[in-house]
Order: sequence, then C-alpha cells, then structure tokens
Amino acid sequence: MILEDKKKTESLGEKVHIDFKSIRFKYWMSFIGFASVLLLILWLLQIVFLSQFYESMKIREIEKIGDGLKQDYGSDHFHQTLLLTSFTKGVDISIVDEDRYITFPKPEASLFSQPKTIPMDYFKMYFTKLDPKKKPSLVFTQAYQGSDEIQLSYISILGKDEGKLEYLYMTTPLEPVESTVDILKNQLVIISGLSLIVALVVSFFMSNHLAKPLVKMAKSANKLAQGNFDVYFTKGDYTEADELADTLNHATEELSKTLEMRKDLIANVSHDLKTPLTLIKSYGEMIRDISGDNPDLRRDHINTIIQEADNLTVLVNDLLDLSKVESELSHLQVLPVNLETLTWATLDRFKLIEQTRGFHFDLRVEGDSVILADESKIRQVVYNFISNAINYSGASREIQISIKEDKDQVYYGVRDYGEGIPEDQKNYIWDRYYRVKKNHTRGIVGTGLGLFIVQSILKLHGFSYGVESTLGEGSTFYFLAPKNQEEE
Ligand code: ADP
Repeated sequence: MILEDKKKTESLGEKVHIDFKSIRFKYWMSFIGFASVLLLILWLLQIVFLSQFYESMKIREIEKIGDGLKQDYGSDHFHQTLLLTSFTKGVDISIVDEDRYITFPKPEASLFSQPKTIPMDYFKMYFTKLDPKKKPSLVFTQAYQGSDEIQLSYISILGKDEGKLEYLYMTTPLEPVESTVDILKNQLVIISGLSLIVALVVSFFMSNHLAKPLVKMAKSANKLAQGNFDVYFTKGDYTEADELADTLNHATEELSKTLEMRKDLIANVSHDLKTPLTLIKSYGEMIRDISGDNPDLRRDHINTIIQEADNLTVLVNDLLDLSKVESELSHLQVLPVNLETLTWATLDRFKLIEQTRGFHFDLRVEGDSVILADESKIRQVVYNFISNAINYSGASREIQISIKEDKDQVYYGVRDYGEGIPEDQKNYIWDRYYRVKKNHTRGIVGTGLGLFIVQSILKLHGFSYGVESTLGEGSTFYFLAPKNQEEE
C-alpha cells in the first residue's frame, strides 16, 4: 500500500502525458484561446469589414473635398483650386450647368470641339433630385460605364452663374479592395502564425510557472498524508500561493501538535488507568486472602479501592465530557444562572475532600451574581476550575472563590496558592490534551482536557476568560459573564 503511494508520488513530478484536468493545461488553453480570439477579431476587422470601412472612408473624404470646394465657389481662383484638388486628391472634378453641359474643364479649343453633356437619364436620376435646402449634395456609387469598376460620385449645387444653376460633379474610382485584402491576408497569415507560436510558447512557460507552486504543494501534501510531519510547504511567486502555503504550514503544525499531545494523552491515560486497576485488583486479592477477617485492615484496603475507583471516574468523566461538549457545542440554552448558588452546589460535591484532605474553600460574593448562560455548561466550568485548583494546590489547602458584580458583567475567579504556571506555558494549557510538562506524579489524575472543555464552553458563550499566575505563588482562573439585566 505504502509502496503504491510512493510510486504515485514519484510519477507526479515526471508525468509526461497531458493531463487535461491539470491547472497547467487549463491555463495554457486559456491563454491560447485568448490569443485566438484576438486574432479572430483582427481577421474580421481586416478582411470582412475592410471593404465597408474603405467605402465609408472614401465617402467621408469626397464629402469633405466637396464641402471645401463649395466654400471657394465664386472666387477668382476657383478653377485653379479645382484643378489642383483634382490633381492632388486623385478625383475627377467637373462643373455641370442646368442644361447638362460640362462647363469645366473646358473642352480643348478646336473646330470640332463641342461641350460635353451628361446623359439625360443619368442627369435626371441624380442631378434633378438635388434641392438647395433639403438635399444640397448627394453621394452614390455605380458601375463605371459598361465596366466592372465601381465609381463613387458626388454632386452638389454650387450656385448660379449668369442665371444658370451650376453643379459640382466629382467622381473617383472605388478601387477594388480585393487586391489590398489579398496582401493583408498574406500578412495576417504570417502574423497569426507567429503570434500563435509566441502565445503557445509564452503561455506554456507561464502556465508552468503559475502551476509550479501548486504542484510542489501537492507533493508535500502527499508526504503529509503519509504521516511525514516534517514537510514544509514552500511559498510560490504570487500571493495566493503564499497564502495557501502559510495555511497548510499552520495546519501541519497544528496537526503534528495534536498528534503529539494525543500520544502523550494515550501514554498518560493508559498509565493512569493501569495503576488504579492494578491497585484495585491487588487490594481485592489482599482482602480475599489476608484481610478478609480483619475489620480494620479490611476497611483500609476497601478505602484504597474506593479511592482508586474515584480516580478512574475522574479520568473517564473527562473523556466523556469532551465528547459530550463537542457534540453539544452547537446549542446553548441561555437562561439566568445564579453563580453563588451554583458554586455552593459544586462545593458540596467536594465536601469529602474538604473534610478528608483538609481543604478550605472561601467563597466571597460582592453584589448580584446572576448571569446569562447555559447552566449545565457553566457548572462544568466552575467544577473544572475548582478541581484544578485542588489538584494543583501543592502543599496549600486554601482556595478562594470570588464573585464580583461589575457595571454590566460579573467576574468569577478561582484562586489557589499552589505551584503556579510557568509564563511560557500559559498559552498552551487551554489546548486539547496539554499538560504542563513535569514528572507525572501519581495523585494528579488528568487528561489535559479540562481546560480545553472550559475554553470551548466560554468561547461558545462569548465570555472573556484567562489566567493570572505566578510561579510558586499560585494561580487565578477567571471568566467574565454579562449580567442578567432583565432582573433589574
Ligand atoms: P488536566 O488537569 O486534566 O491535566 P487541564 O486541561 O485541566 O488538564 O489543565 C491543563 C494543565 O494546566 C494541567 O495539566 C496543569 O499543568 C495546568 N493547570 C491547570 N490548572 C492549574 C492550576 N490551578 N495551577 C497550576 N497549573 C494548572
């Protein structure tokens, strides 16, 4: 099984065949798709729309020339301007009068020269349609007499000369765009080919670059899945990959911490379970074989058995509490809870300890002690605080419990005069399975779950909480809960 996984990991890095679902392939395809769309748009613009674009450009140009010439009409150098424009702009320019005669350019002076005229039907179709106010000029295309060549014409009313209406008449061939399109096509084929190759290569490297950190992380995650907690998720070259790496590193750290603690717990719990069981068994045997008939000795032995059974109960309860808290964490039944009453009831449970081990509980209440909370869960917090105070009191037998009403909250603190908690451990004692490292002496039975349960409950309520502790002087565990405002 492990061998198989190993093979899988090894092949991950050296995959030769294309994985169509891989991020690399998808990036690559997206880049190429993007480049193709751009090229397609270019082709459409250049080839398909070129003729239309060309024609409208020509129309705009001829209209502009016509409008310019009209401004000049009547000036002395008008004819010269016409000739010059015709020459520079490559447009045929004529002036036609209302009798269809072409008055400019003048026919060559010779005996047989007759002024040219515009064909009647043509004149009627276009020239007579003009109107000085509504339609002073007109642009149209038509085939050049008898040929395939399309010609663009512009006519416009100029004004009256010697009582006759005069028109400006310009024509220019609309050169077939096909030849231009052919040239463009050839160019575009080359450009497109080159662009696609460049896009292919660049995007290949880019997608590799983008996918690299993820591929690396997948490899590390695979190692992690095999139980190797020494893996480190290296950061990539971009923020998202960095964030992912950070999160995974944090998760790995937490995971290994939890596993470490779980190992400790199993070691502790199995030790703590085994010792009382061994004692119970041996004392049971002793009663059977030796002390059965001796009432004093028998009582002693039975007491030991009871004490050990109590230890077992503590252990088992902690484990049961944890699973209960975890499954019930989602629902809280928040009602007014009287902390003073609740504390007295809890202290009742420790009465035996008070009597047998000489503990002294000092409960001080200032003001009203009613808060809003889930009673059974807060009872557990109070119980755990007090039982920890007992467990870690060392030689001291004094435990102080203070309840203080403040402006809008109530302070609840349990103080002991025991060994205290080292500064560097204060943050960890709330972690699941965490126990301050020290020689695990018998007598303090624990799982490292008590404060984790406390923390889960207080967090769920949204109460602030904490610990103040000085090594050798003792600790105060506390929480602050909102007052029950309704009662006032
Ligand atoms: P447990 O008591 O079962 O070990 P807890 O979660 O209740 O687990 O406590 C975690 C650890 O915090 C304890 O093992 C102990 O080292 C430390 N601790 C808790 N309460 C006190 C206290 N009142 N004084 C000193 N150390 C404490």
